[in-house]
Order: sequence, then C-alpha cells, then structure tokens
Amino acid sequence: SKIQHIRNFSIIAHIDHGKSTLADRVLEITGLVSERDSREQYLDKMDLERERGITIKSQAVRIPYKAKDGQEYILNLIDTPGHVDFSYEVSRSLAACEGALLVVDSTQGVEAQTLANVYLALDHDLEIIPVLNKTDLPSSDPVAVAQEIEDIIGLDCTDAICVSAKTGQNVDAVLESIVEKLPPPEGDPDGPLKALIFDSWYDSYRGVTVLFRMLEGTVKKGQKIRIFSTKRDFEVTNLGVFSPEAKEVKSMGPGEVGFLCASMKELSDAPVGDTITDAKNPTDTPFPGFKKIKPMVFCGLYPVEPSEYEPLKAALEKLQLNDAAFWYEAETSQALGFGFRAGFLGLLHMEIIQERLEREFDAQLITTAPSVAYKLVNNKGETIYIDNPSKMPDPSLIESMAEPFAKLEIHVPNDYVGAVLKLCEEKRGIQRDMRYLTATRVMITYDIPFNEVVYDFFDRLKSVTKGYASLDYEVEEFRVADLVKLDMLINGDPVDALSIIVHRERATIYGRKVALKLKRAIPRQLFEVVVQAAIGQRIIARERNPALRKNVTAKCYGGDISRKRKLLEKQKKGKKRMKKMGNVEIPQEAFLSALKAD
Ligand code: GDP
Ligand code: MG
Repeated sequence: SKIQHIRNFSIIAHIDHGKSTLADRVLEITGLVSERDSREQYLDKMDLERERGITIKSQAVRIPYKAKDGQEYILNLIDTPGHVDFSYEVSRSLAACEGALLVVDSTQGVEAQTLANVYLALDHDLEIIPVLNKTDLPSSDPVAVAQEIEDIIGLDCTDAICVSAKTGQNVDAVLESIVEKLPPPEGDPDGPLKALIFDSWYDSYRGVTVLFRMLEGTVKKGQKIRIFSTKRDFEVTNLGVFSPEAKEVKSMGPGEVGFLCASMKELSDAPVGDTITDAKNPTDTPFPGFKKIKPMVFCGLYPVEPSEYEPLKAALEKLQLNDAAFWYEAETSQALGFGFRAGFLGLLHMEIIQERLEREFDAQLITTAPSVAYKLVNNKGETIYIDNPSKMPDPSLIESMAEPFAKLEIHVPNDYVGAVLKLCEEKRGIQRDMRYLTATRVMITYDIPFNEVVYDFFDRLKSVTKGYASLDYEVEEFRVADLVKLDMLINGDPVDALSIIVHRERATIYGRKVALKLKRAIPRQLFEVVVQAAIGQRIIARERNPALRKNVTAKCYGGDISRKRKLLEKQKKGKKRMKKMGNVEIPQEAFLSALKAD
C-alpha cells in the first residue's frame, strides 16, 4: 500500500556541516530540481537565509524516488532550522519524521549543535542514519569521526555513509539507506483526522499557509477542520504538496506531508505544534508537548525621527504576521521618545529581525542594548518580570530579585580549554562538568547567568578560541542574585535607554567600561561633555570629552581632498542617526556599542 512507500526524514547537523548542500544534491539526483535550475541552497527560501547561510524557517519537500528495488517511493524531506534559538521549531519538525540523517563534517567532528540536535531526534524516537560529509577534502578523516560519533553519541557507525555533498559522490547511497533503514509511517486512514502543524507562514494573498504531517484519517479540500487548542473551525480551501513547487492534491492520508490554506488570518490561528482534527469527528488524543514559545532577549526599537514612528509600527506588525516568536509592545523612553519594546528567542533571532526591519522596511532604527527578563518580588509580595532595565523599581521597593541562568555546553579543542574556563569564570559561571570527548577535544558544561551570555559571550568565545569553539545553550531557571541598576548620565542627565541591570560585584567594572565607550562613541562637541555611571545617587565612573575648537577636517593636514570629503560625508551620514539628548548629539551606534564588548 501507499503508506509502506513513504519515508519522512529530516537532516540534522551542526551549522556549516553541509545540511543545505546535501539537500540540494538530493533534489538534484532524484531529478526534482534539474542541475540547470538548481540555485544553491534550494530550501533556504529567504534572501537573508541564503546570505547568512542559515535556515530560519523549516520547509518540506516531496521527492518521488525510484529505488534500486524497482519500487517507487515518496520521500518527504523536512528541513529544520540549524540554530539553537529555534530549537522549538526543530523539535516540531522532527516530530513529523520517522528518521533523520545526521550530517557530520568529517574534517571537523562532533560539535555542540550536533549533540543538541541528536538529542532532540532521540527524544522523538527517530531512526538516525550517520552521514560523514566533505570526504572530498584532504583533511577529511571519516574513520576518526565515525569513532567520535560512536564514543560521544553512542550511535552505531558501522554503516555510516561517507559522502561529498559538494560533488555528489555517494549521495545515492544516502537515498537507498533512507528507503532501507527508516521505518514507513503508521496510521489508520479511517480514524478521526489527526495532523501535526509543524510550520506556518503568512502572506497577504492567501492568508496563513500551514505545513502539516498526517497521522490518522484523511483530509480533503472543502473539509471543515478544527484547530485543537483553540477549538476554532476552518474550511480547507487549498490542499497540496511542495514538489518542489506547490501542487494541489484532492486528499491526503496517514504519513503524508503537505500544506493547506483555510482562510486563516493570523499565525495564532495555526500555532506550530498544535493538532489539526476534523470539526465533526474530532480526535481525543492531540499531539503532546504543545507549548507557547517565550521571548528570552529584549531590546528597545526606536525610530530616529518621530515621524518614522507609524511606518515602524506598520513594519513591526507585518513582521509579526510571519513570526509568532517575535513579540513587541509600545514603549516610551525619556531619551528616545516613542518606540517599542521587542522580545526575541535569542540573539540571532534579534539580529535577524533588526536586519529585516532595516532591509525590508527601510526603517531608520535605534536599538538599545539587549536585556534578559528579571524576576522580582516587590515589597507587596507580588512577582513581576522586568525586561527593561529603566523600569526597575527603586531598590527599597524590592524584596528579592532573580536572574535567568543558562546551561551552556561548549565544545573546544583542548588547547583552548584554559581560555574558555577563564571566560566562563569571568562571566560568573559555575562549572558543572568537563569531559574529554577525544584525546584533543573537550566538552565543558557551565551554568551561567543568561545576561552575561547576552552581553558579549558569543563574541568573546569566538575570539578566545579563534573560532574553534561551538556552543549550545538552554535557559533553565531563575536564581536569586544581588543585582543593581546602573544608570548612565550625560552632562548630568540620566539616559534611560542606556541603563543596564548588573550584578553588584560587577557594577564598577561595567560602569567604567561603558563610560569610556560612550565617551569615545560621542563625537566631540562645541562644549564639554561629561559621561558618568551611577548606581542610584552614587557616581562610580566619570569620563569627559573636552570642547571641540577646530574644524573636523583639520586633522587631515589639508592635503588629501578625497579623504576630507569622505570624512565630511561620513559625518553627514552619521548625523542622520544622531539623537539629541539635551543639547548633546549621540550617534545611534552609541546605544548598542556602549554596552558591547571591544
Ligand atoms: P549547513 O549550514 O549545514 O546548511 O551547511 P552548508 O550546506 O551551507 O555548507 C557549509 C559550507 O560547506 C558551504 O560553503 C558548502 O559549500 C561547504 N560544503 C558542504 N558540503 C561539502 C562537501 O561535501 N565538500 C566540501 N568541500 N564542501 C562542502
Ligand atoms: Mg543551511
């Protein structure tokens, strides 16, 4: 029967180990995308994804495949985001599969995200096929890497497949292995409809498109379906599969993967992880583990010009239509005026949204330094969450304060262990574990305050390990901590958008650093500018920029005209993004860079 010839699988890998390249080759070898048509990274649809080489939203494609046994199969490749910020989406996509290809770069070995993704796959009881990639490279060592996978993950690598996703060498063996090793789906075509939503997106033409995986029953065009968690009913207007372009089908049964539209207006009409069932004959066993995703990192988004407020608001509304994990609300800052507070899954998610805003909506933005949400109990015994440092109540009104802690797993060559330990200790980390994975590679596990991670941890880790470390993290719990609000004052006036919450022990060091950075970020003006850091009334750091006397181009010695012009142009450009604080002009970079590491 049909179901016996369906295979649903994902490709999981650490970033850059070759997931997208392998997917491209699979589409090419099966003839779904001709070599001529294939642009690189077919599945990564958004420009931003292609440029950054990361997959943000998951995609699904149906691949007809004639196996060596002469039988026709349907392979559904369900792509997953490769980054830790999106692990909930990874998890939902994996729930739609019976198996996964575990791609490991045979010149690199097991990395932090390899492990994180394998654990997610094992959580869903997936059959895992190890694939050793990049065997065309001279530094490839598939034997050692296979051993590493066995030692670290405990996965049998006897039948691991050595491929070059780049040249296509041996990729056909991967297809055969999918057919042979992965179990076909199971499910009763006559049972009540039960399908898992593993992705959804919005466009103004069709409204919401839902990607789903059938488990039980059948779904047809025109059918009245129900979204389990909201109990809302919709009529299916379009039903189809991507192969690779959208193709309409009349009905779908157990094991199949496809899309549907049903006049849904918002992503919240079809939450990822939710169950689709039949309105008249609903299932009583929805998929488990459906949860609402929560933003973890917050920042302020402000227009440079007050007149840009409405366009920015429209841009944010539009972005949110397609990103259920992105949250925002209106906020006012004394320093920056009317703007928004926005919440993100993590730093990468934040960067992506900021980039999209600037790119797609041409909005001129001032972004404040990222912050985590703190949990505090006030003197009335109420619990409140503070995601904006300037909103922290007076210390006399606070009973206790707690900060989110992350569990961090870092994989690093043993040469850099010392540097990583030093960094983690400096970040108030508490070591949990340290293990040699191989003779030369170490896994270090730390509990670290999440705000220290958000502050500059990734950049620092990269620089102290020359880019050789990989990392995975998960925010686990709140822990009580001695935290204070650090204010920055410019010519005596506090700039609310520059306030941060820090550990009391670290306040002086941060205060000095930030004051110095601000002093450097603020161009000299025609009067003296004094930058101060303060905790309450107590000044803990002070820097000053003396008044400017000479013309800005004077230091070019009058010689090089083009350089002079460049300097003036640069200054003009910078001006566009200046914000006047009293009479001091502060460039927009100052709001972010002041609180970032060197
Ligand atoms: P992803 O982040 O896992 O999706 O990785 P990509 O598919 O984007 O690959 C990352 C980089 O590795 C790209 O520059 C690819 O061209 C390269 N790459 C992928 N597979 C191979 C391979 O088999 N051999 C070589 N030499 N390079 C590869
Ligand atoms: Mg990719």
